[in-house]
Amino acid sequence: MKKTIVAIDGYSSCGKSTIAKSLAKYAHLTYVDTGAMYRAIGLYTILHGLTQSADIIAALNDIRINFIQVGDAQHVTLNGEDVESRIRTLEVGNRASEISQIKEVRAFLVAQQQQMGQTQGVVMDGRDIGTVVFPKADLKLFLTARPEVRAQRRFDELVGKGEHPQYEDVLADVNDRDYRDTHRAESPLRQAEDAIVVDNSEMTPDEQMQVIIDLYDKHCANS
Ligand code: C5P
Repeated sequence: MKKTIVAIDGYSSCGKSTIAKSLAKYAHLTYVDTGAMYRAIGLYTILHGLTQSADIIAALNDIRINFIQVGDAQHVTLNGEDVESRIRTLEVGNRASEISQIKEVRAFLVAQQQQMGQTQGVVMDGRDIGTVVFPKADLKLFLTARPEVRAQRRFDELVGKGEHPQYEDVLADVNDRDYRDTHRAESPLRQAEDAIVVDNSEMTPDEQMQVIIDLYDKHCANS
């Protein structure tokens, strides 16, 4: 049977993972958070004090990334250790954004992501899923929201986790990451020509979910 592939790309903190998780549940597909994979490599480089590209590329041989199911949630593991809570910080997010510019890092992760889509139907979210990982995905969504809206959401999330960020820092971080993601030489974030754009700045989570489910039913329900 054909495996359904839904690709969800977009800027940081625009709710990709929430939407992707809900859609995966609705459609009985496996959710794959590719940002978590880049974050896990980012964490590894922090823990091992690696800053030079050559050292990071050499270390890829020693890095194993997997996902495990913990209750309802999916956690990423780095060399067998559950690092889910450690990768969700500003520091690791920024490092992930830096190391994601290295061609060899991308090739290493893209190969694993493509493999995941061969064995099961997936909803995969990231920056290059519709353009590089699965250019023939059944449905490609490109999510976006205004930077101020995304910064506020990210701010609320960090506060909810007990961090004490400044809103201005979070907004600057969102803008920096947008710039890096869209201007890097390797697989910059861009909308695939056949992707459907969903701007959720003014949508409630429920409204957005309904829009996405309607698109899924229209494009994938019979695939
Ligand atoms: O989505 P998330 O914010 O967790 O991703 C962390 C970083 O990993 C992003 O800022 C982006 O630079 C990078 N990334 C990427 N390609 C992907 C997923 C994430 O370059 N497919």
